[in-house]
Order: sequence, then C-alpha cells, then structure tokens
Amino acid sequence: MGMRHLVLLIVSAVLLFAADTTRSVPPKAAPKYQDGSCCDKAAKKGEKCLHPCCVKAAKADKVCDRCNEPAKK
Ligand SMILES: [Zn+2]
Ligand SMILES: [Zn+2]
Repeated sequence: MGMRHLVLLIVSAVLLFAADTTRSVPPKAAPKYQDGSCCDKAAKKGEKCLHPCCVKAAKADKVCDRCNEPAKK
C-alpha cells in the first residue's frame, strides 16, 4: 500500500517537472499558425508561406509572429 503511494507521488512529480520544462520550449513538430493567416493558408495547401518574414522565421524553427499573432485569451 505504502509503496504504491510512493510510486504515484514520484510519477506525479515527474509529470509536473515535464510540464514545467515543456512550457518554456514549444514543440517544434507542431507550429502554431494563426487561423486564417498567410502561413495557415499555405500549410493547408501543403505549401510553405513565401513571405520573407515567414521564411526567415521558419529557418529559425519558429513561426512568424508578425503574421501569426499569439492567440489572445
Ligand atoms: Zn506567412
Ligand atoms: Zn510573416
């Protein structure tokens, strides 16, 4: 009984730690384009946005934040 509780504690601690580290580093695999932005439209056509600002951002593994403003909450 005590052992199971300890394992749960460790697992939740690890999950908390993982959540904390992923928060500061956005996943590269899923670029977040603003819905309806030039990049979003290009991605939906299976292409890459050709705007110079977006190309530059893509090269840095980023999403152009001039064309894709962070979603407001
Ligand atoms: Zn774009
Ligand atoms: Zn752009």
